[in-house]
Amino acid sequence: MKSPTKLSKADKELIAAAIASIKQRYRNDWQEVGAALRTRSGKIFTGVNLDAYLGRMAVCAEAVALGRAFVDLGDDGIERIVAVRHPPPEAKDQTIAVVSPCGACRELIFDYDPKARVIVPNGRTPAVVPISDLLPNKYSRGAER
Ligand SMILES: [Zn+2]
Repeated sequence: MKSPTKLSKADKELIAAAIASIKQRYRNDWQEVGAALRTRSGKIFTGVNLDAYLGRMAVCAEAVALGRAFVDLGDDGIERIVAVRHPPPEAKDQTIAVVSPCGACRELIFDYDPKARVIVPNGRTPAVVPISDLLPNKYSRGAER
């Protein structure tokens, strides 16, 4: 990572919101990831992943959180976003921990706010990085710039 920064109090609150969302809705093999984002106007929205029997219909927790934010506020941007994974019941030695957004979510986050910052795993303590650090050479429909 090029420029990780330490977590602020607000970042820790965002992680706590993501943890609370997956603790509330966890179902083994169905809902295992929680996410929370803070919009540019400072509101927090949470989501959990929607797994599906037909795998390609599955939706990531970050996308659910973004959808909830967009319905309520319209295009208000993403100041910060984080996702956490709940361990399966048999993994008694694991705790809910910050995970990196998948490749598709990196594209989605960038599309809705190219200046978004993402809380990612970084050894013992998560760190904050710009979405552009996580998505070099982003996909483009137009001519290469
Ligand atoms: Zn994803």
